[in-house]
Amino acid sequence: MREKISDKITLMLTEQGFTYCNWLFIDDDVRAVFETGIDENGLQGVAPETVELVINSHHHVDHMRGNGLFSNAQIMIHELETEIIKDEQKSRLCNSLDQWIELMPGLDTASANRELGLELSPACPSPFNSERTVLPLKDGQILDFGTVKAEVLHTPGHSAGHCCFWFPEEDFLFSSDICLTKAGPWYGEHLSDPAEMMRSIDRIIDLKPSRMVSSHIHEVIEDPIPCLLEFKQRIEKREERIYRYLVQSPSDIHALAEAKLIYRAHPTSFVVFWEKLMLLKHIERLEEQGRVKRSDGIYYGI
Ligand SMILES: [Zn+2]
Ligand SMILES: [Zn+2]
Repeated sequence: MREKISDKITLMLTEQGFTYCNWLFIDDDVRAVFETGIDENGLQGVAPETVELVINSHHHVDHMRGNGLFSNAQIMIHELETEIIKDEQKSRLCNSLDQWIELMPGLDTASANRELGLELSPACPSPFNSERTVLPLKDGQILDFGTVKAEVLHTPGHSAGHCCFWFPEEDFLFSSDICLTKAGPWYGEHLSDPAEMMRSIDRIIDLKPSRMVSSHIHEVIEDPIPCLLEFKQRIEKREERIYRYLVQSPSDIHALAEAKLIYRAHPTSFVVFWEKLMLLKHIERLEEQGRVKRSDGIYYGI
């Protein structure tokens, strides 16, 4: 499904959702795409060999899985993540998969990947390519495509190098994985940080965009400020739920995950893994605040 944002900007909405994403096609003096999480509907008429620039909002596979299709394009991503998207091993580590054995004993990641739909299609060239030049993006950088201009907003929290993109002429924000879906926000990897996520949401609220779309919602939102405020509050609400639960029921990380305080349902192993990773982020903050203590692997709310 396509939606015109302006004469030269087309939004391609994914119909399959995660593990694919929405992407933007810029048909200007410089032809560019933002994100390549292109689903089975394919390129929808965009000839990949004519695209000169691919801009990834961050390193997650659902946003860059189609990079290999754009063989003539320069790739750009925030300077903290240029090396990660060249190397599958670095990407796995960055995604906290080194914690899988401890947090998900007895389960293997290959079957979990299949269950989630993260496996890459053999028909699509691998996005991980150590030979490919990847250019760094910086906060405040203006990407000039001719008529269309976009400002890079470094908005960490989801990942260290996560960026949103602001199109001032069009009064339009592409908010990437400040996703506004029911399941978000997500801050489960080593360099994720819920406090940074809250600051990043505040930053895009301050922009007061009239129109906004993320990588994973199915419509352009007009006047998104109330949605953004509610999205940010979920982080504080999760933390209070976790604290109250640990006061009532001291638990280890596995029992705490079973209480489903972050995700209401656990349809896949990855969701359980993410629940645990994000619980640990909150527990770290609660320990710093002196509200949770750990003894023999059990967390106590005090
Ligand atoms: Zn992501
Ligand atoms: Zn995503």
